[in-house]
Amino acid sequence: MSLPTPKPGIMDITPYTPGKSSREAGVVPIKLSSNENPYGPNPKAVAAYKDAAAQMHRYPDAGASALREAIGEVCGLDAARIVCGAGSDELIGLLVHAYASEGDEVLFSQHGFLMYAIYARSFGATPVKAPETNLKADVDNLLAAVTTRTKIVFIANPNNPTGSYLPASEIKRLRDGLPEHVILCLDDAYAEYMDAPDYSDGVELVDATENTVMCRTFSKIYGMGGLRIGWMYAPTAIIDVMHRVRSPFNVNSAAQAAAIAAIKDTGYTEEQRLKNKGQLAWLSSALKDAGLHVFPSVCNFVLVRCKDDAQAKQLIGNLAAEHIYVRDVSNYELPDCIRISVGTPEENQRLMERITAHLGA
Ligand SMILES: *Cc1c(COP(=O)(O)O)cnc(C)c1O
Repeated sequence: MSLPTPKPGIMDITPYTPGKSSREAGVVPIKLSSNENPYGPNPKAVAAYKDAAAQMHRYPDAGASALREAIGEVCGLDAARIVCGAGSDELIGLLVHAYASEGDEVLFSQHGFLMYAIYARSFGATPVKAPETNLKADVDNLLAAVTTRTKIVFIANPNNPTGSYLPASEIKRLRDGLPEHVILCLDDAYAEYMDAPDYSDGVELVDATENTVMCRTFSKIYGMGGLRIGWMYAPTAIIDVMHRVRSPFNVNSAAQAAAIAAIKDTGYTEEQRLKNKGQLAWLSSALKDAGLHVFPSVCNFVLVRCKDDAQAKQLIGNLAAEHIYVRDVSNYELPDCIRISVGTPEENQRLMERITAHLGA
């Protein structure tokens, strides 16, 4: 007899480390560690969430029909080719679950989002990293890493934690260079922040191919990370697969109601985008003035490089002691870097006061 043992790969997983915060009574932390919207959710989403409360004895709409219709309407997409999930994390996981098994490879770029490797391992597949060039995904390196066992290529565009993005032409070159059997998953968690003319969320590739999918989330610009809701736009055959593997009630009713209210309020979303853009510029230049190397970001966070690993660790620790939380990115192979979410003007100012004090000391 022997004790229960998990499947191969499971014990190789390094559990995901969420952004730090404080639960100490009486402390109002400045949480800049999880790329959340610092202004909170849309009040209309909060109202819809509260309205939904009285019906919590009913199971949610298993097909999330009204939400898919709303997304389809606002984004100009076919609602039948949208599937909703408990965060885009769940959809990423289900995609790996459905298409990659033991011996298969899941490919992503060197500083890509950690969840790709976690899901690959949890389904027995092998995570493979392609080197980046100047903290940017490198299409040639990704293509060179493809083998007959590659099942999915994930690319966060823009990427977390680097804040960089690939133009539409590079994403198309990646798709064109990938074999037909490989799914390209465009993880567009930060797409709503983008206004670069050479950027595309990749909808045109999803429409033009049978093997490209796009993931989106309500956790970032919409400020609804606590509700766990995201969606995927994909070709019909992949949507069909996703519906087979997801649990029927994967998105709760309050999340569906709140997300409908949020996505319909496009003016409010645009306001959030502009507020972030202004503060991103302010914060980036203040961090530069403080002597840190700032990588250009198009997101609601910025990656900075310290003098060395020790300085990064110390700064993260010093700020945490003052209840200001930023992200340690050593598990992204960036031990001398720190990822800082863009906060409100007051939060950013306070952060910079403290960073300047710590670095000047
Ligand atoms: C935040 C984030 C997600 C997912 O978030 P969910 O809350 O699961 O929707 C996915 N990909 C990237 C790159 C992210 O930064």
